[in-house]
Order: sequence, then C-alpha cells, then structure tokens
Amino acid sequence: MLYQRSSALFEEAQKVIPGGVNSPVRAFKAVGGTPIFVTHAKGAYLYDVDGNKLLDYINSWGPMILGHAYPKVLAAVISKAEKGTSFGMPTEIETEIAALAVSMVPGIEKIRFVNSGTEACMSAIRLARGFTGRDKFIKFAGCYHGHSDSFLIQAGSGAVTFGAPNSPGVTKGTAKDTLLARYNDLDQVREMISQNEGEIAAIIIEPVAGNMGCIPPSSGFLEGLRTLCDEYGILLIFDEVMTGFRLAKGGAQEYYGVPADIVTFGKIIGGGLPVGAFAARKEIMNYLAPEGPVYQAGTLSGNPLAMAAGLAMLSELDQQPSIYHSINHKTEYLHNGLESVFLKKGIPVHINRVGSMISVHFTEKNVIDFETAAMAAQGASFNRFFHGMLNNGIYLPPSAYESWFICDALTITDIDRTIDSCEQVVKRW
Ligand SMILES: *Cc1c(COP(=O)(O)O)cnc(C)c1O
Repeated sequence: MLYQRSSALFEEAQKVIPGGVNSPVRAFKAVGGTPIFVTHAKGAYLYDVDGNKLLDYINSWGPMILGHAYPKVLAAVISKAEKGTSFGMPTEIETEIAALAVSMVPGIEKIRFVNSGTEACMSAIRLARGFTGRDKFIKFAGCYHGHSDSFLIQAGSGAVTFGAPNSPGVTKGTAKDTLLARYNDLDQVREMISQNEGEIAAIIIEPVAGNMGCIPPSSGFLEGLRTLCDEYGILLIFDEVMTGFRLAKGGAQEYYGVPADIVTFGKIIGGGLPVGAFAARKEIMNYLAPEGPVYQAGTLSGNPLAMAAGLAMLSELDQQPSIYHSINHKTEYLHNGLESVFLKKGIPVHINRVGSMISVHFTEKNVIDFETAAMAAQGASFNRFFHGMLNNGIYLPPSAYESWFICDALTITDIDRTIDSCEQVVKRW
C-alpha cells in the first residue's frame, strides 16, 4: 500500500502541530513509518487520503463499539446540531443520559459529565480526597488514567511508548502523593496500605488493564482490593474509561461482580464525541459543587451534541444486550484463529483477551503486569507483525502497549481475512 498523500500531509502537520499529531500514539513513533490520514470511516472500515481501505481494530481507541458512522448515533447528532450546538445552560437530554447510565451501571446513583476520560479520572481523585480528607492514592504501574499530573507516574501506553514514564513538568510535590504498585500484586498493596495507614484516599485501577496491552485481573485480585478498601476506609475507583459499557452494560463491576465506590467513564459513553463522566453513590457525589465543597466545572460539559451521541449509543447497548455476546464471540474467534497460526509456525505468543479487548504479546511468558508487558514489547516482532498486517489492509494499534478493540460491525468474514493475513505475514517471519 502507498501512503504518499499521508506522508505529505504529515510533513505539513509537523510544521504547525507538535509531532504532527494531537495525541502522541497516533504518530507511529513506536512502530515507525508514516501515520495514516483518514478521510472517513463506515462500519468496520477506515478510508485514507491515498485511497486505501483499512479494516479497523482500534475503533477510535474504543468508542466505536458498534462500528463507525453508526446510523442512529449520526441521526441523533445531526438533528441536535440543527437546534444549536452549545448553550451553557441545562438541557433535558443531560438528565436523560444520566438516568440511563445510572440504570445500566451497578452501584451508582449520580453521575457528572465532563469532556474526556482525563477529566473524569482527575476529578474522581479530587472527589475521593475531598470525601476522605486524605491526600495519597495508589495507582498501578502501566495503568493509564489520562494525562493529568498526578497520574503521569508509569502511565502505560503513550508515556511508555516514548520511554518517558515520568513526564517533565510533573513536580516532585505532586508525584509524592501517588503510590505505585504492581498490577495483580495484592500483597504489595496490603503492605503499602499498612505503611501509609490513614493517609490513603483511594486506589484507582483499570479493572482490566488496556494500556499495557490487555491484562486481565488475576483471580481474586479485584475482590482483594475491595476487601482492603473496606477495611481501611479507602475508596476503590474503577477507571472504566475502556471497560465501561464494553465488557457488559454495567462494565467491569458487572462482569466481575466486584463493586467500586467511584467509577469513571469515557470513550463509549460519548458515542465518538468528546465525553467523560464519573459516578458514585449519592453520599459521595453530593460532595461535588454546587451541592458540596469539591469544585469541578466545565464550559462545554454536558454539550448537547455529545449528549445526543452518547444517549443514542447507550440506548442501543441497553436495548440490545445481545451485542455483548456477539462481540465477545467474534473476539474469541479471532483469538483462536491467530493463536493457531502462531502455534503452527512455532512462534511464541501470549494472547490476552477479556470480552472484546485483546492483545498479542510476542513472548514465552504470561503477561500479567507492566514488567512482563514491557519485556514482551522489547523485540522487533510486534513492529514486523504490525507492518505486515498493515500491508494487507489490517489496521492494528501502532504500539505493543495497546489493547485492540473489536466492534460489532466486524464480520466473521473480516476476521477470517485477518487470520489469513496473519498466516501470510508469519510465512515470511
Ligand atoms: C483513554 C483512557 C483515559 C483517558 O481518556 P481521554 O478521553 O483520552 O482523556 C483514562 N483512562 C483509561 C483507562 C483510558 O483508556
């Protein structure tokens, strides 16, 4: 495939945009080559400026769970736009989507909408600190909770891809309140809590990690965190920006049957428009301004176009729960197909999968935390795989540290073609 026009556009972009992109992973630095400039997308396919058609395994990093340009979401946005795009005043649709989200997700009674997953996680930590009167929190190495200062400590994907886990600009003062634990290591968390007793406001976690590839919580890990939090008066925050409305209607809380105290959302909840949200029981959410003392605000929060897209998306997922069965089945089919291709060829891989999140790690070891994910990402295998697949028109995330996201527009025929393509790539391994 040729990317002449993409290359030219990337040259132009680099003159006026740092690195030519508005979010680092898009720049292809980890895999090399030219980032692809898209013109449009429909269903499971992307179309680029050079006339290439690509089968999409990223789906805008998660939001497009039903495929691109989903008709009901489009119709909702278009008809809203005709009535004005922002008012800075309350609108009825904000209550509609809030009520729907509250009905779909276990344990939450109130929800506040923001404009990104970053804002949602940043606000959730502030709320947890305000509610508990404590400063510190625990995060896990390789988990990403957006790019706000206190989270940029071993933050997975983007940050890791560039070898700068601790970003300049984040002060030591900020970093000292972020305690870093190993994913899937409950003993370490227990020890950390006892060393900081009475000082920890929250534990924040991706209940399925998706920013160091896809890494499932080991059996009993989430339950163990829940028990520790209850014992020490710590709030458990599930960052469900990826897993929310994807693993199940009620996200990871429903999927694993483990309740969190605060849940954050992004990606799917905006139906492809910029939306984030955080939610909890009333007692906690009432701490937020204007009802309570913890300040949080947003000029474009609850924006009518974004709410229309999100409401159309959530309604569809709420009314057609069979979608989950369908995408999980497709992902399993992909998993089995790819695995047998690698096995036949004797290439050591570990494929991690939960629901419709999946990642391929070129390693002999189980990938269970950041360390094992980083070891697997070291060789050239992923980049060879990525470019081989891309040559066949299959677009995977351009980094070994990213989960792939399966959308329901993907057909078994598409997946068969993906597996065939993998076979061709591996033939020349
Ligand atoms: C994407 C992501 C975020 C950040 O969301 P943005 O909308 O990119 O700010 C936070 N947490 C997780 C788990 C994510 O995957």
